[in-house]
Amino acid sequence: MNILLIGSGGREHALAWKIRQSPRVARLAIAPGNPGMAALGEVHDLKVTDVAGLTALAVEMQADLVVVGPEAALAEGIADALKGVGIPCFGPTQKAAQLESSKAFTKDFCQRHTIPTAAYETFTDLDAAKAYLKTQSAPYIIKADGLAAGKGVAISPDLPDAYAELEAMFGGRYGAASQTVVIEEFMAGEEASVFAIADGETALLFGYAQDHKRAFDGDAGPNTGGMGTYSPAPVVTQDILDITEREILAPTMAGMKAEGNAYTGVLYAGLMIENDRPRLVEYNARFGDPECQVLMLRLKSDLVPYLLAAATGRLKDMPAPEWYEDAAVCVVYAANGYPDSPLGGSIIRGSEQDFGPNVSVFHAGTKRLDDGRLAAAGGRVLNICARGATIQEARDAAYDAIAKIDWPMGFYRSDIGWRAL
Ligand code: ATP
Repeated sequence: MNILLIGSGGREHALAWKIRQSPRVARLAIAPGNPGMAALGEVHDLKVTDVAGLTALAVEMQADLVVVGPEAALAEGIADALKGVGIPCFGPTQKAAQLESSKAFTKDFCQRHTIPTAAYETFTDLDAAKAYLKTQSAPYIIKADGLAAGKGVAISPDLPDAYAELEAMFGGRYGAASQTVVIEEFMAGEEASVFAIADGETALLFGYAQDHKRAFDGDAGPNTGGMGTYSPAPVVTQDILDITEREILAPTMAGMKAEGNAYTGVLYAGLMIENDRPRLVEYNARFGDPECQVLMLRLKSDLVPYLLAAATGRLKDMPAPEWYEDAAVCVVYAANGYPDSPLGGSIIRGSEQDFGPNVSVFHAGTKRLDDGRLAAAGGRVLNICARGATIQEARDAAYDAIAKIDWPMGFYRSDIGWRAL
């Protein structure tokens, strides 16, 4: 079959790597892809938000399936456009993707369907928001309603700081995304990411992981898109998975369908787990990056039949996916200056050598120079991923590989997986 994969990050490189292993795939096109993905399929230079161009490509190549990596493409309505031309798409429609793209939508939805999450109020007016904050206690959680590249959440230790955050948000810090603001109760506990794939009706659990959001060791420094992941995560027990499925995922699928927004694609539940109970922090409408990388390393089953079954409403016929017993760890190698102002253009040497069967290096922000050398061209640049019998072994293998890469202008966290060790 012919597949079009949309995206250019480490997440999509890992998806392409796994899709390529499927005996069912004849042609894999990737848009826009990255230098690491060029060896796995034909790369097309189209923006992920170019819905018309991507749809035309899918039609031209007679795609049997389009797999959407990033949320930006979903928020632009790629799934709706593909529906219009009758091509199965693994990813939700624009309206269903509101589970990620509008926090107010998701909080209201959870309330309507009694899905466990933090108590909240939504505001479009600064004074009303300030008055409400006075009735709450610290720390204060203030969220821009719309997509803000993972930066739209403030955790304020006191009222003056919280007021300043509100003023900045209503003042347009995230443009239209922060003209509506959600104020939430603070939830204590440990965070984990649980993934399901969905076909409009059924959600099938599809792995779990834990990530590291802060830039530096010891969870210090600014928030990032994610500096590393590991799976399995000990905090996610079978009990937690069962409760998540029963109290969070199943009512979400039923509620979305009942409201005319049947949900297809990845349903990624960001959870806060306290006293063995999960509550929903947020939904994402796509695989996490870099969570996807460790999931793909651990997935034993062929990925393609699952993506196709989800895109065509046939998930209930699928068995639960099989996983390797092995643990997997992903360490993000980022450009100096990330996340605020990553330095581009520095040369990376040694990342494309053979590190052995248990190590995969996925590209994110890289670029191939005319002379064939690899250069940094983004914030998060490489993902060094490894499998091992234990988290410790996987992590040792990843750091051994990193030690062989010569990139003085990059940095990484040296404590990925610390919670599990
Ligand atoms: P991203 O897309 O990068 O995961 P986001 O901008 O969509 O983030 P959330 O995931 O809702 O925002 O929140 C970001 C982080 O803020 C969470 O991962 C969690 O650490 C913290 N957080 C959010 N809401 C709460 C809450 N109610 N209580 C405690 N911590 C919270």
